[in-house]
Amino acid sequence: MNILVIGSGGREHALCWKIAQSPMLKTLYCAPGNGGTGEIATSVDLNVSDHDAVLSFCQDMAIDLVVVGPEAPLVEGLVDALEAADIPAFGPKKVAAQLEGSKGFTKDICANYNIPTAAYARLTDAESAKAYLSKTGVPVVIKADGLAAGKGVIIAHTMEEAVAAIDDMFGGEFGSAGAEVVIEDFLEGEEASFFVLLDGISVLPLATAQDHKAAYDGDKGPNTGGMGAYSPAPVMTDDLCEQVIRDIIEPTAQALRDMGTPYTGVLYAGLMITKDGPQLIEYNCRFGDPECQVLMQRLDSDIVPALLACAKGTLSDVSLSWSTDVALTVVMAAKGYPGSYDKGTEIKGTETLDSKDVTIFHAGTKRDGASLLATGGRVLNVTSRANSVTEAQKLAYSTIAQIDWPEGFCRSDIGWRAVAREQ
Ligand code: ATP
Repeated sequence: MNILVIGSGGREHALCWKIAQSPMLKTLYCAPGNGGTGEIATSVDLNVSDHDAVLSFCQDMAIDLVVVGPEAPLVEGLVDALEAADIPAFGPKKVAAQLEGSKGFTKDICANYNIPTAAYARLTDAESAKAYLSKTGVPVVIKADGLAAGKGVIIAHTMEEAVAAIDDMFGGEFGSAGAEVVIEDFLEGEEASFFVLLDGISVLPLATAQDHKAAYDGDKGPNTGGMGAYSPAPVMTDDLCEQVIRDIIEPTAQALRDMGTPYTGVLYAGLMITKDGPQLIEYNCRFGDPECQVLMQRLDSDIVPALLACAKGTLSDVSLSWSTDVALTVVMAAKGYPGSYDKGTEIKGTETLDSKDVTIFHAGTKRDGASLLATGGRVLNVTSRANSVTEAQKLAYSTIAQIDWPEGFCRSDIGWRAVAREQ
């Protein structure tokens, strides 16, 4: 098979790495790819918002499956365009991708299908938002409805913060993503992520993970795209996983079938495990980055049949086997991230570090002759596998100690909560 992966992050390198191991693969392409994917896939310079350009590439190269990594092309309807041209694609169509693209859309499904989630209101002007606030009080969570790259969520602990967040959002801070705002109750508990595959009919559970969004140790500092993750999430027992499928995932899949747009692809449920059980915080319509890196590290089966089955509606024929090992990934980012940072700095010493239990997935990197250069904020994902979080953490950090990149930094405590549980 000829497969095209869309994206350029650590998630896409992990997907390419796993797909490249499949005996079903003939040629692998990645658009646009990065310095790591370039070692195992042919990099393609494609504007993925230009659907005609993607279609003609697929036709020219006889692509049998397109795997869409990030959310933006899904929300823009790339899968709709591919399906219309009879090119199998992994990922939801435009309307189904609204599970991530519009928080209000998801909350309404939760309300209509009795899915446990925080109480909420959808508001379209500052005055009614403030009137609603006066009823909820604080703490309260204020969210721009649309995609805001993880920055459109404010947890307000005081009324002043809440009012300022509403003024900022309706004042245009998040552009059209903030034209509507969702205000919801603050939930207390431990967060975990749960990933499933869907083909419109069947649900195939993948695995659980936990990530660290904050930039600095102790979960302090500004929020980022994610500074590390591990899988499985110890808080997610088998019983809880079953409960999440029954009470959250299945009714969501039913809702989308009822709307006439069945969900296909990976569905990533962001959960809060509260004292009253799991509650849905958000859906994402793609693999998490860096969660994908730890899932791929733990997946023992070939991933290609599962990706293809999502596109073809044959998921009930697929079963996947997972390592009982823990996988953990530590993100190395350019100093200054998530603020401004230097680009083009050289990274040395990564070439010989991959082993059976360690894989270095690239994000913002490019090759320049024999050199490896950092080109983005999040740059490397040092991903390890071991029989405990404690051991996986040691292995990841001993690997990082061998990387020579003075302009980079990472957190030194990825997995701290799970390590503490093990001790
Ligand atoms: P964006 O849309 O800007 O990309 P996002 O999709 O990451 O943001 P959410 O996942 O909904 O936004 O929220 C981000 C974080 O805020 C969550 O991971 C969680 O830590 C916190 N959060 C969101 N909703 C709640 C809530 N109701 N109670 C407590 N914490 C919450």
